[in-house]
Amino acid sequence: MSRRIFNAIWIVTLTVFIAALSIILAVLHGAMTDVQRRHLEIETELAVEGVIRSGRDFLDSLDDADYRITWITGDGSVLYDSVTDFEAMENHLEREEIRQALTEGRGESVRYSETLSEKRFYVAELLPDGTVLRLSATQTTAWRVLLPVLAVFAAALLLSFWLTTGLAKRSLENVNSLDLDDPLQYVGKADYAEIAPLLQRLGRQQAQIRQDQAELEKTSRIRQEFTANVSHELKTPLHAISGYAELLESGMARPEDVRPFAGKIRVESQRMTKLVEDIIDLTKLDSGGIGIPWEETDLRRVASAAADSLTAEAAEAGVTLLLEGGPAILRGIPQYLYSIIFNLCDNAIKYSAPGDTVTVRTEDRDDAAVLIVADTGIGIPPEHQDRIFERFYRVDKSHSKAVGGTGLGLSIVKHAARLHRADIALDSAPGRGSVFTITFPKNAERRNGAEP
Ligand code: ADP
Repeated sequence: MSRRIFNAIWIVTLTVFIAALSIILAVLHGAMTDVQRRHLEIETELAVEGVIRSGRDFLDSLDDADYRITWITGDGSVLYDSVTDFEAMENHLEREEIRQALTEGRGESVRYSETLSEKRFYVAELLPDGTVLRLSATQTTAWRVLLPVLAVFAAALLLSFWLTTGLAKRSLENVNSLDLDDPLQYVGKADYAEIAPLLQRLGRQQAQIRQDQAELEKTSRIRQEFTANVSHELKTPLHAISGYAELLESGMARPEDVRPFAGKIRVESQRMTKLVEDIIDLTKLDSGGIGIPWEETDLRRVASAAADSLTAEAAEAGVTLLLEGGPAILRGIPQYLYSIIFNLCDNAIKYSAPGDTVTVRTEDRDDAAVLIVADTGIGIPPEHQDRIFERFYRVDKSHSKAVGGTGLGLSIVKHAARLHRADIALDSAPGRGSVFTITFPKNAERRNGAEP
């Protein structure tokens, strides 16, 4: 990159210099030509004065002037020349400046002199006696001053070369020495004004990456905790089962204990089965329900099915289970909608006392299908309400275990609701009971992009 920046600046500089040099030389050339011509004209006038006054003697008295002087008769033959032998010189009548002088009194021209092999200025003047005096001088071209000008330019080029290299290097050094772990510290500093947008973007990206990382760490921590919890939760019933089985096997159990022990083994096995089922449900939900078809589902019918399968449990607990409301159609995944309703109703019954009532209500609103599960049970203290949706979180562990809870029910509800983009609201107070309200948007499937 340094090379590229450098080359670009260098090409521009060189172009500017060459253009400037050409212009300077052209202007200088014009100016020098003017000065020389003026000078020669003055010299010619002086020489004419001299010749008029002293004739040939004047010419002889001139020694080694820096111009050539020629005296020509009105018919073109050369009377005198300060450089070559005039007798051998050809007739000069055809010379432009002579012809002009003879007709107009004065003539000038610039041309290449065959005699002297160089470009020269000629100024000729007609004398009163009809002869013509001509002075000529080498035309000094601007090439003469080219060398010093070139020297200055070369020096300037060298300087700009040095400066551009330094500049390009310094700009890149600035960029290369950036502490990219904290790009925002440079924003607002004059040295970095040009790359401020880039730095800002970098900053934003890094913040996003940090956030993603934190999210990832959190997820992985939750997974680890979950695995540890699962092992623990599975071990407890297994220990109980193998303990009772050992007692029965060894024949140490009294005959009247055999049935209760077998009953305990059955209860613990059921608890394990429920736990394994819940874990499987959660794992499926964790992968976002990919591949499971969404269907037009009536929440009311699902609620009715869930309530049916809980009738026995409700009766056993002495709890009245009521179904209210009308059809509420939405597109969803029936098995997960069932899980939501079943787990909420199951909890409502589990955490109620005999004589309490559990009401399941479905409502069809314009853009939402609403499920309300209300109980008149023990209620949930406010400080626990945020956490009960966490895996294995229980307000009262022994109570939960006593009623066959796994600690995963509400976690399944939360995940299944999230998949449907549903909102969960909880209104509960200890001693008064709990109301869970789940609002399902009807177009969740499209927003999820889970199904075509
Ligand atoms: P569990 O299998 O223990 O019921 P959940 O995840 O379903 O696990 O519920 C977590 C905890 O939230 C329960 O242990 C219980 O303390 C509390 N809880 C859930 N639903 C209710 C309810 N309807 N009334 C009172 N407490 C509830």
